[in-house]
Formats: sequence, C-alpha cells, structure tokens
Amino acid sequence: MAILVTGGAGYIGSHTVRELTDEDRGVVVYDNLSRGHSKAIGGDTRLVIGDISDYEKLKDTMLKYDIDSVIHFAADSQVSESMANPEKYYYNNVVGTLSLLKAMKDCDVRKIVFSSSAATYGEAQEVPITERCPQNPTSVYGRTKLMMEKILVDYDVAYGIKHIALRYFNAAGAHVSGDIGEDHTPETHLIPIIMEVALGKRDKIKIFGTNYPTPDGTCIRDYIHVTDLAKAHILALDWLINGGPSRAYNLGNGKGFSVREVIETVERVTGREIPSEEASRRLGDPAVLVASSKKIMDELGWMPRYNTIDDIVESAWNWHSKNPNGFDDR
Ligand code: UDP
Repeated sequence: MAILVTGGAGYIGSHTVRELTDEDRGVVVYDNLSRGHSKAIGGDTRLVIGDISDYEKLKDTMLKYDIDSVIHFAADSQVSESMANPEKYYYNNVVGTLSLLKAMKDCDVRKIVFSSSAATYGEAQEVPITERCPQNPTSVYGRTKLMMEKILVDYDVAYGIKHIALRYFNAAGAHVSGDIGEDHTPETHLIPIIMEVALGKRDKIKIFGTNYPTPDGTCIRDYIHVTDLAKAHILALDWLINGGPSRAYNLGNGKGFSVREVIETVERVTGREIPSEEASRRLGDPAVLVASSKKIMDELGWMPRYNTIDDIVESAWNWHSKNPNGFDDR
C-alpha cells in the first residue's frame, strides 16, 4: 500500500513527501516536472513522470503500486497567469482533477487530501476568515480551486470518495535542513523574489498596489511555514484513514503582514537593504487574507511550530543563501 502524491516534486508537495518519508510511509510521487524538481525528492522515493490529465497512466500507477490514498498538489497556481490564461487553468486544474478522480474511482481509491486555497474566499467579509465565510474568488485560479472543492463534495455523495480540502494561506519558508525550498521559474511569489533582491539577483522588489484599504496601503497576507503545512497533510490523511468524514480546513498562522512589513522583515533577518518600487495593483489580488485555523486545531490537533514571520523568513533565507540558483536544473 502506498500514498500517491501528485505534484510531489513541487514546493509544498516535496516538503510533504519529506515528512511522509521521515515517517516511513510508502510514497509514490506523480509529477510532470513542468514546475517541480526531481532533486526536491529523495533519491529513494519512487517517482512516476506523468500528467494528471493522463488517466491511463494514473490508473496503471495506482494499480502497480497498490495506492490506497492520494494527496493532490498538482496544479497551476499563479493568480496573475490564471487571469491572462484561464484556459490553461481550467484544463490543468479542473479537467486534470476530474481525470485523477476518475482513476481513483475506477481503482477503488477513496481518500484524497486536496490542496485548496485562501484564494477561494476572495475579498474577506470578516477577518480572520473562518471556513464558514462565503467563498467568492476574485481570480480564475481561486475559481478553479473552488470548483474542485465542489466536485469533491459531489464525488463524496455519489461515490463515497472522502476528502479533506486544505485551504492554504501563503505558504512560505523552507525545510529546516536547507536541502529543499521554494524554486519556481519564473518566480512570482513575494518572499522568494525579495530573497533574490537580497542576493543581488534583482535590483528591486516591485510593490503591487499601495492604495489598498490597509494601514500602509499594501496587501496583507497570512504567511504559513511550508513544514507546518506539510504536517497538516499527514494529520488530514490519518483522519481519513481512521474513517473520518470529509472536511475543509483553513491553514494559516492567524496573523497578517503587509508587503512592506515582509520587506522590512527580510531586511532585518538578512541585514541587507531591499530597494523597492511602487507599482500598480496585480489583477485578482484581494486586499487582506488572514486565516482562522481554529477548526483544524480543534478537530485534528494541528499546531504551527513556526509561528513568527521572522522564523519563516529565516528558514527561507537559509535555503536561498545556500542555494542561490535553487535546484539549478532549469
Ligand atoms: N507581491 C508584490 N510584489 C511581488 C510579488 C508579490 O507586491 O513581486 C504581493 C502580491 O501582490 C500579494 C503579496 O505580495 O499582495 C503576496 O503575493 P504572492 O504572489 O507571494 O502570493 P499570493 O497572495 O498571490 O498567493
């Protein structure tokens, strides 16, 4: 028996694979390596290079490795790209997930932990955001994640496939070892871009929007350490293995930091000056996203270990300063 981890060579996927293999759980990574890195998973971890749209390959993989549960990360995940190219996002995320679910149904695999997103909420009606808040995504990316959540609910009712949807706020940081971390090409996320400025690979960070209705005018986000996220996947999987019903949970630290505050944190942690420039808003970005994670704490006993922004940024700096070219495989 083994756990299939789609997108397991990606950023959050590879950190989850690390936690699973540290616990000697049987894992098979399924990844098309379009954004992921084979170096991000240990040499002993089984890797099948494939696309989630490839139903036959998924089915063969599930049967060959006796898969009994799935953790599903594989997806495109950039808000601005999703606005410019919705077709790519609806196909890769929604149609791809339908292909995965069909393979699961046909192979009698009935447990899935799903990467959802705070982007499903859109502009917050209240802060912190609880799971009961209305989900009105402001981006195509957020809409694809919301559609997938709704599909999972229908597949539970009709086919008995149980799921946990984990609505991540802003994943950040890197594994404590400094062996694995965040490496996207192109990089679009705030903390790794600021790290590139700290390393002298970029001359400045552009601040996307300085007239939001927030104290300093820049967007506020809730940054959560990638290892804390990874551990939540294991708790979620065990909940399903123990017969728990389907659930959706937020995952954040419950504290919001503005773009300017994150820049100041990186300056403090690295001791380097970060030049910045004010730029226009990025399409699809809500002003404030801060989580209440009380539900997953109460029900699954999840507790973040890295709960200060300094801890998170320090771990990111540890990875980026040791690996200025990331995995160096592009
Ligand atoms: N951001 C920014 N400059 C950048 C990248 C991001 O000002 O070069 C802002 C972005 O508009 C958002 C926040 O930083 O308000 C976090 O963006 P990121 O892409 O890291 O995560 P997202 O919130 O899109 O998941």
